Amino acid sequence: MSTRQLQQIIPGAQTSDGAGVSLRRSLGQSQSARVDPFLMLDEFSSDDPDDYIAGFPPHPHRGFETVTYMLDGHMLHEDHLGNRGDLLPGGAQWMTAGRGIIHSEMPQQESGRMRGFQLWINLPAAEKMKPALYRDIRPEEIPTVPLPAGGEVRIVAGSAVGVAGPIQGLSTEPLYLDVRLPDGGRFDHTLPAGHSAFLYTYEGSLTVGEDLRQLPAQSAGVLSSGEALSVHAASGPTRFLLLAAKPIGEPIVQYGPFVMNTRAEIEQAMDDYRNNRLTEG
Ligand code: MN
Repeated sequence: MSTRQLQQIIPGAQTSDGAGVSLRRSLGQSQSARVDPFLMLDEFSSDDPDDYIAGFPPHPHRGFETVTYMLDGHMLHEDHLGNRGDLLPGGAQWMTAGRGIIHSEMPQQESGRMRGFQLWINLPAAEKMKPALYRDIRPEEIPTVPLPAGGEVRIVAGSAVGVAGPIQGLSTEPLYLDVRLPDGGRFDHTLPAGHSAFLYTYEGSLTVGEDLRQLPAQSAGVLSSGEALSVHAASGPTRFLLLAAKPIGEPIVQYGPFVMNTRAEIEQAMDDYRNNRLTEG
């Protein structure tokens, strides 16, 4: 079985988004920093309310999916479809913008720690204009499975250690794992050879593959193609995400919250949004 190696390291860059939420962006910090079909990964993590209190007031999306996964804190999602979702520690939301959604994500706390991730996953052309869909995933819906050599894995999407997560059956076949390893711990996982994959360490650091290349904290590590992935917690207890999916292989034209295949489709999205037609089916 061919093994996956660490191919490229994308250190998270400090930036802000929404109405002034401080965050660290790895994938998506530039148009070349993408791993098809993954467009963006943001980590938000702060004990200072000034970094998060402004939240993400109502804004649109078209053409892709957004996944928010909370480690700490409390946010409220509301959208034009009338969905209200409480985002609690250990929970997630999986939102398929499709042809259009207008939503907000606002902090429900005035102090304490807010920490989590937002991932953007592209949709193939055939699905970019499908109706919007929102899924609220409560913390207890995400399986937490002990690993044989210590630590644990939480399975948001796809399957690991023989256990299926709540998100299944999407055309990009995403895998979304949150792994915790003790110092010196090891995690092995087999991936479909042609799927894109990357790691994101958010506590500690990892060594990856047979050549033991080091992936530092707060960095995305893009993996080579292959099947067998083996990582070690190199310098103390480590927590990381493993994300993988089937590449789409289509042209990408992005303008802010709209991700389409052509410039004309972006102009259409902007025109639809200005004329309150973005979300109409
Ligand atoms: Mn959004």
